[in-house]
Amino acid sequence: MPLPDLEIVCVDCGGLCRPLGWFIEDGEVDEGTVMPYRCVDCLDRWDVVISTPEDGQ
Ligand SMILES: [Zn+2]
Repeated sequence: MPLPDLEIVCVDCGGLCRPLGWFIEDGEVDEGTVMPYRCVDCLDRWDVVISTPEDGQ
């Protein structure tokens, strides 16, 4: 199962977005899980669908 990114880059301001309600200790999630992220700078929320990276990028 895929492991969500701990941080993603905010599309709006380039700041860091952190997952809401998920921590690294929680580990892997089901494929297709929608993970909400909150930007620490502009506080925008981004919903990211978590999926397994393709083989060979
Ligand atoms: Zn932002």
